[in-house]
Amino acid sequence: MYEQERIDHQTIVEVAEKTEVLNVHSVETFGTYDGPGIRYVLFLQGCPFKCLYCANPDTMSFDGGKNYPIDQIVKESVNMKSYFINGGGVTVSGGEPCCQAKQLIKLFKELKARGIHTALDTNGHVMNKYVEELLEYTDLVLLDIKHINSSMHEIVTGRGNEKSLAFADYLRKHNKPFWLRYVLVPGLTDKPEHLHQLGQYFQDYESIEQLEIQPYHQLGVHKWELLGMEYPLVGTPENNPGQLLNAKSIFDQYFKKVVIN
Ligand code: SF4
Repeated sequence: MYEQERIDHQTIVEVAEKTEVLNVHSVETFGTYDGPGIRYVLFLQGCPFKCLYCANPDTMSFDGGKNYPIDQIVKESVNMKSYFINGGGVTVSGGEPCCQAKQLIKLFKELKARGIHTALDTNGHVMNKYVEELLEYTDLVLLDIKHINSSMHEIVTGRGNEKSLAFADYLRKHNKPFWLRYVLVPGLTDKPEHLHQLGQYFQDYESIEQLEIQPYHQLGVHKWELLGMEYPLVGTPENNPGQLLNAKSIFDQYFKKVVIN
């Protein structure tokens, strides 16, 4: 089993205090999975979670990545603006983007000033004054909830889900539109009772626009191998269409819109 590397609170604070540049793992132009429309997607380096199924395990470490000046990202985004009609824009993902919230404030402010839609794809584990300010310039949050049961969440990610649920509560209290994202892993996160629990927990959250089911896939396995890490979910099959539709039919009972990504 993969040894969970613990990132302590101090590391998160230190990362948050760095300024001017973003530590970027990779950039995807013309992304279509991380928010509405066509998107310029920035994957940031570093994540406090260690998900068993992480498709980008090379983003987990706070070391590595490339320093990108904010101005360069703004310029590249503006160059893509004609593709952002139909609701597209810029998404920051990870890793965990909220670890670099201080730097992202500047980016999102600049994008908003240029009329570009901003989305934040987060696991909700980090909340501080920078994240609060960042959310003021965020049009849409994509909140990944890894499991509704905190003990199971800790098995999946290495940490409990209390902070992520508190993040969702913050979004609700501030009427911030968000999408819930849920990875459906056979045998790990797909038990009907847990899907019902998640639905019951969030059913009164008015600002949830939709729930996205993200099918489990093994596209990142080779990355684990390249990093010399043992992939923890060897032998876990990908979802069959029936499993996805079953999950959708459960979530349909609680959310106004459910999509399979
Ligand atoms: S939260 Fe995302 S980036 Fe972080 S370990 Fe989990 S899947 Fe990977």
